[in-house]
Amino acid sequence: MREQIMGLITPTMAVVFIAVFLVMWWRGRMGNYVLAFAASYLFFAVGFGITHLFDTGSPYVFHITQFFYTMSTASGIWGLTRRAGQPPYLGVLLTIYGLAATTLAVAVVITSDIAPRLIIVNVGYGSMYLVCVMSLLGAQRREAIDKLIIATHAVMGAQFMIRPVLTLLVEQAIAADVYRQSVYYSVLNLSLALVSLMSAMVLVGACVYDQIRAVREQAEIDGLTGLRTRRAFEQDVVELLEKAKQEYLPVSLVVADIDHFKAVNDVWGHQIGDHAIARFGEVIRGTIRDTDIAGRIGGEEFCILAWNCDEEAAVTMAERIRRKFAEMQIKGMPDDHRLTASFGAAGRGEGEGYGKLFARTDSALYRAKDAGRNRTVRDGEKQGGVVTPINTGADDQGEMREAIA
Ligand code: GH3
Ligand code: MG
Ligand code: MG
Repeated sequence: MREQIMGLITPTMAVVFIAVFLVMWWRGRMGNYVLAFAASYLFFAVGFGITHLFDTGSPYVFHITQFFYTMSTASGIWGLTRRAGQPPYLGVLLTIYGLAATTLAVAVVITSDIAPRLIIVNVGYGSMYLVCVMSLLGAQRREAIDKLIIATHAVMGAQFMIRPVLTLLVEQAIAADVYRQSVYYSVLNLSLALVSLMSAMVLVGACVYDQIRAVREQAEIDGLTGLRTRRAFEQDVVELLEKAKQEYLPVSLVVADIDHFKAVNDVWGHQIGDHAIARFGEVIRGTIRDTDIAGRIGGEEFCILAWNCDEEAAVTMAERIRRKFAEMQIKGMPDDHRLTASFGAAGRGEGEGYGKLFARTDSALYRAKDAGRNRTVRDGEKQGGVVTPINTGADDQGEMREAIA
């Protein structure tokens, strides 16, 4: 009786984990990998329940529980590898299952000793976890939580390989009819409870981590352009300016604003306007270097902090973006119509903070607008008192007016 009650602890825990994963998947709108974690614990609970409640002397029970435990392992591995964007190697897992099931069928026929059966199935699960760990090790992203997942699953794999061998060394042979009274069965119960608890804690931790990350990304990344939001951009700029100061590196700011954008909305509608903004963001993302940062700081206004870059190089970068955008066909607009943008660029003065640097860059942008748009104006040009546009690409004012007419 005591054994029966103890044996129910693990499946009960599994049921709680299933509920937690289901709630996270459903209410948290998380990816299908979380559903796979729930499925893994469901198969595990069923397998464990069968082992516990039915006659383990029957060869059928062994085959059935092996099937459920394999499904549990495979679902967990599918979820973990999917989360990491790695292949689940389902074919390899199926081969391992096939091999284990075949040898198990032979073992069941030739001996009533349970030991060989236990070694076969456990080595099978251990090998599957090994495949999982190998797959996860190939993932690009390796944050602390990912390392923890890899470590715990390596321990789980090792546990499956080592536990049956060690216990059977102590116990030698186990007859099917006394299986539940064996030391092996107690160790199995304990280690499965611990391993499933450990794994569930790590998986729940990973889900919580993923949720926090998604929320943070939502707050920091502008959905339309994939660039930083104003707040995130400004926070990062302040940090980078400090870093640049310490490392004595030049940095520059570029501010861009799409020309006559009100008219774009008026003539072609808000949706096409949104699309144009998204395409502009795409051009920026495709042009800046990995070390630069860019944000959408207003409706159709953008700001770039160019790292290790003086004013002249920042102007060259702005010009590259300007030209690319001016050549771009925007879906939904007439084939021969092109949008343009104006740019202001300024190199950071010694010890200058973001506020002052932005004000200088923004005023350069205003001068670019005043000088006819579709051009880049650098802050340094102000010093001579004359505004000399870097590029005097044709202003599209006339063209835009025609479009509206
Ligand atoms: P200028 O050349 O002087 O910049 O003229 P403009 O018409 O672009 O003027 P301004 O920059 O002041 O106009 C910004 C317009 O952008 C106002 C608003 O209708 C539009 N806008 C702002 N945010 C969005 C957005 O998220 N989507 C769309 N479609 N339009 C936006
Ligand atoms: Mg504008
Ligand atoms: Mg604007």
